[in-house]
Amino acid sequence: MILIVGGAGYIGSHVNKLLVKEGHKTVIFDNLSQGYKEFVRWGEFVLGDLANKEQIRHCFHKYSINAVMHFSAFAYVGESVIDPAKYYLNNVAYTLNLLEVMREFGVNYFIFSSTCATYGIPKEIPIAEKHFQKPINPYGRSKLMIEEILRDYDKAYGIKHINLRYFNAAGADLDGKIGEWHNPETHLIPLVIYAALHKNDGIRLFGTDYPTKDGTCMRDYIHVNDLADAHIKALNYLISTNKSDSFNLGNGTGYSVREIIEVVRKINGKEFNVIESGKREGDPPILIASNNKSMDILSWRPQYADIKTIIETAWRWHTR
Ligand code: UDP
Repeated sequence: MILIVGGAGYIGSHVNKLLVKEGHKTVIFDNLSQGYKEFVRWGEFVLGDLANKEQIRHCFHKYSINAVMHFSAFAYVGESVIDPAKYYLNNVAYTLNLLEVMREFGVNYFIFSSTCATYGIPKEIPIAEKHFQKPINPYGRSKLMIEEILRDYDKAYGIKHINLRYFNAAGADLDGKIGEWHNPETHLIPLVIYAALHKNDGIRLFGTDYPTKDGTCMRDYIHVNDLADAHIKALNYLISTNKSDSFNLGNGTGYSVREIIEVVRKINGKEFNVIESGKREGDPPILIASNNKSMDILSWRPQYADIKTIIETAWRWHTR
């Protein structure tokens, strides 16, 4: 059985759906602080909190767990600058609780949701996995800390793990039952869609003088179902090789904030407000993945590489 910690959230719920579709048995452990019970449509569900080791132990007692996928984390760059304690406590300390219980129960396979934010301001674009990791915000640092802890835990305790360094997760499953639903929402694509639907005053552009083609930040948006597929491939790889490793998950193409706004404008065909604002602290100008390693070693191929398709799936989800 695969334990999906944070499986009621955006990415975890898409991974859960695919795991079950591929014949795996899953159990979701989630405190529903960021996730939604409505997203747990497959597998077993345990309401529990990583802050509470007894609740984690109870789950490991009840189910025979072979591998753990860990999605439960705070992931707002801006918030992490304002309230780093929240990030270090949740993303680092509570992950240690999970790893402790894994050790107690002899569970040695761990798939970790890491991030391109661990790279900081990249020296080279596209960014390969061997690029130095010097995060510039507490969110990125919290994820890098766990990557480093995992390296030590592998050596000392034999916990084999894969760090999946997500670029910008986007889009939604096509059946319309699960999608991106954050409260509060801070991510670009949903906020641009809200602006187009006039659910907010307009989209704020965080910084217009970055050293990019149009002055706005560039990101590599990756469809959530492509992320999900990579998790399954990473798990298979981990179990078959028994080797820890790290992989980037991105499409290898970058889009500026203005380009994303333009795609939404075209889908909707109507104008909406774009408000030029100051920079958001902690934002690197450009993050684009080299995905060669994931393609070569995991035989992973993104299916929704086109940005218009990615945004259309998000649009469909938000307008339902
Ligand atoms: N962004 C923006 N306005 C917003 C939200 C985000 O200009 O209301 C920018 C943000 O500064 C970043 C990019 O959009 O350059 C993607 O931000 P998001 O929060 O979606 O993801 P992140 O890259 O922080 O993980």
